[in-house]
Amino acid sequence: MMRVAIIGGGIVGACAALAAQRAGFIVTLIEPETPGGEQAASYGNGCWLSPSSVVPPAVPGLWKKLPKFLSDPLGPLAIRWSYLPKAAPWLVRYLLSGWTEARVMRTGHALRALVRNAPELHAALAEEAGVGHLIERRGLLYIYPTRADFEAEALAWRVRRETGVKWLEIGEDELRQREPDLDRRYRFAVLVEEGGHCRNPGAYVAALIGQAEAQGMKRVRTRATGFTIEAGRLKAVRTDQGEVAADRAVICAGAYSRALARAVGDNLPLETERGYHAVITDAQVGPRTPMMPSDGKMSLTWTETGLRVAGQVEIAGLAAAPNWKRAEILRDHLLRCFPGLPREVPTDKIRFWMGHRPSMPDGLPCIGPASGSSDVFHCFGHGHVGLVAAPRSAELVAAWLSGAAAPFLAQPYSAARFG
Ligand SMILES: Cc1cc2nc3c(=O)[nH]c(=O)nc-3n(C[C@H](O)[C@H](O)[C@H](O)COP(=O)(O)OP(=O)(O)OC[C@H]3O[C@@H](n4cnc5c(N)ncnc54)[C@H](O)[C@@H]3O)c2cc1C
Repeated sequence: MMRVAIIGGGIVGACAALAAQRAGFIVTLIEPETPGGEQAASYGNGCWLSPSSVVPPAVPGLWKKLPKFLSDPLGPLAIRWSYLPKAAPWLVRYLLSGWTEARVMRTGHALRALVRNAPELHAALAEEAGVGHLIERRGLLYIYPTRADFEAEALAWRVRRETGVKWLEIGEDELRQREPDLDRRYRFAVLVEEGGHCRNPGAYVAALIGQAEAQGMKRVRTRATGFTIEAGRLKAVRTDQGEVAADRAVICAGAYSRALARAVGDNLPLETERGYHAVITDAQVGPRTPMMPSDGKMSLTWTETGLRVAGQVEIAGLAAAPNWKRAEILRDHLLRCFPGLPREVPTDKIRFWMGHRPSMPDGLPCIGPASGSSDVFHCFGHGHVGLVAAPRSAELVAAWLSGAAAPFLAQPYSAARFG
């Protein structure tokens, strides 16, 4: 039987490992940390399984805000001056990818292929792993102070409509009934009924990896460093602790995938969009449905461990220390959304986290064969949508492993687009 090494045990690696097993491969996971642990973006994200996450981060006119991003270190998108020279090529590509509406629409279609059906797919995966309770499907709410604020986001909703997302508009009275604890400055909302959320992304990843292990997957607790390739064919994945023999390998190391991709011939513009969360562990009030306030661009979601607010984008690289003021901004916005929460949250009742979104500049992941060996496959760079998009990404991994046709058009995710 063919052996496949999955490199990285976040949500993308977990779904890839299960898909590889289903395709009949012997699977080894190479992961230096605890799967689903705090090192992974998959641990601390906003929990959204959003079939409406089809709008790439860069949209026309964003460049006009660049001076603000550089001058306001605490804005929702901030770029650290000291990191600017390193990030500049990525930023240029980022802005260009959203330069026209046509480009945004094209990206929207490619994203939709990865996120549609996601709540059902996750529900099935969770059920099989014995953690069905971690996936809830009660929709996702986008909340606005006024209808005019919703209309000001016309492009985003046009992309959603054209890619097949459906929604319900909710007026003030209905919003009060649905969300009695929400601050009254929000008077309009949009409900995406097909949306879902995960109540504990870290535990979910751990359960999926546990299931793969129960089905025979071997886990090697070490860091992958490169590949042994002879005449274009993969022999082994190199690690800190020697070689792991493999016929195929899938790179799923999230924001840490760049050096591995380079080791197999692809110099790809992978950057980290650092994000933060705050969790209030004993909140008594909060949203009935996970929600995103238009004036904060953050997700507010109940989890098993408390009320989580997640968001912010900080371009400052993998090495810089967290700036916890950014997590405090999230906390303060959450408190403003729910006046029933205490004005001061004691430090032992709140937890802050920072993690690394693995982001390509055009808002699409890299999924496809590496140029240095057709035995190595890229599956990383999922940016803001890695949780929701992991099962469909794994379908592409499984098709590649089995030599079958891709179940949907895979070309938009190819590394060759950066060639
Ligand atoms: C604040 C925030 C909010 C977000 N909200 C959402 C959301 O609501 N919905 C959504 O869909 N997405 C969201 N995302 C994005 C999502 O979390 C990521 O896209 C996704 O978790 C990426 O998964 P991954 O498996 O590729 O990477 P990770 O989860 O980062 O996992 C990578 C793994 O690779 C391991 N690794 C690293 N280097 C090596 C190596 N050399 N060898 C072996 N293993 C290695 C790491 O230890 C880690 O466990 C959010 C992200 C953030 C930061």
